[in-house]
Amino acid sequence: MVSLQLEGRTVVVTGAGQGQGAAEARLLVEAGARVIATDLAADMPAELARAESGPAGQLLYRQLDVSDASGWSELASWLQSHGWRVDGLVNNAGITQRSRLLDASVADLQKVYGVNVAGALLGIQSLAPLMGSGASIVNVGSVAGLTAHYPVAYTTSKWALRGLSQLAALELGPRGIRVNTVHPGFIETPMTAGAKPEFRQATLAETPLGRTGGVEEVAGVVLFLLSPLSSYVTGAEIPVDGGQSSHGGAKSVSDALR
Ligand code: NAP
Repeated sequence: MVSLQLEGRTVVVTGAGQGQGAAEARLLVEAGARVIATDLAADMPAELARAESGPAGQLLYRQLDVSDASGWSELASWLQSHGWRVDGLVNNAGITQRSRLLDASVADLQKVYGVNVAGALLGIQSLAPLMGSGASIVNVGSVAGLTAHYPVAYTTSKWALRGLSQLAALELGPRGIRVNTVHPGFIETPMTAGAKPEFRQATLAETPLGRTGGVEEVAGVVLFLLSPLSSYVTGAEIPVDGGQSSHGGAKSVSDALR
């Protein structure tokens, strides 16, 4: 039966120590997957630990800096040593950097690209060889990658990630491996906890649902894209943003004429 259940499947989630990644890891365990949650910390972060008592799957933690090619090789060797095929990869790890157009340095770009773009590329290169037909890769983009968002390094990195996703969907499709992207809007996580109040207010004014999102709301879409329910979906991009990216700037007009 086709379902959202992931029993017998092994899924790797990056940046899973907190925020959206931790929520994704928890939900995937609940759906029955063996989840290899990875992050920068040496030991399993507290936010993840509560998934260990989950009802269905199994949670394992590994330290991984996604920008480090040798770390990915070690992870791939470790997975192989257990004889585990990889059925899913969530390239969730990401960093932001808020320099604006005339201030951003090449070093800013390189730092953000190293995680947000190279990290996803290394993940795909390292784990696609361990995947078979039916496997699914989910890249975590951003509304910044769908719009002219103000932080230049972050925005351009997420646009680059879209290109990588589409290219990977094309290249891996013949092997039965799907690649899709989710684009979160303003989601309540440690990353956005430090955002200025003006940023929050301005984003809400652009968001038809009129509220910020929760981590579980992104995790649910990730689960769908990893599951057989989305078996004919590849190269797709799904905004999870309360409609923020959907109106092309027309919301202020609509609001003004109410
Ligand atoms: P978060 O709360 O900052 O969590 C990100 C996690 O990734 C942290 O645990 C962080 O570890 C880890 N990380 C950072 N650099 C890493 C690296 N080089 N290798 C491995 N892990 C690394 O972020 P989030 O809000 O959950 O965001 C998750 C994803 O969604 C990111 O790709 C982000 O760009 C995207 N996104 C978020 C929002 C939002 O509103 N929250 C909106 C659009 C897109 P440390 O804490 O130790 O640095």
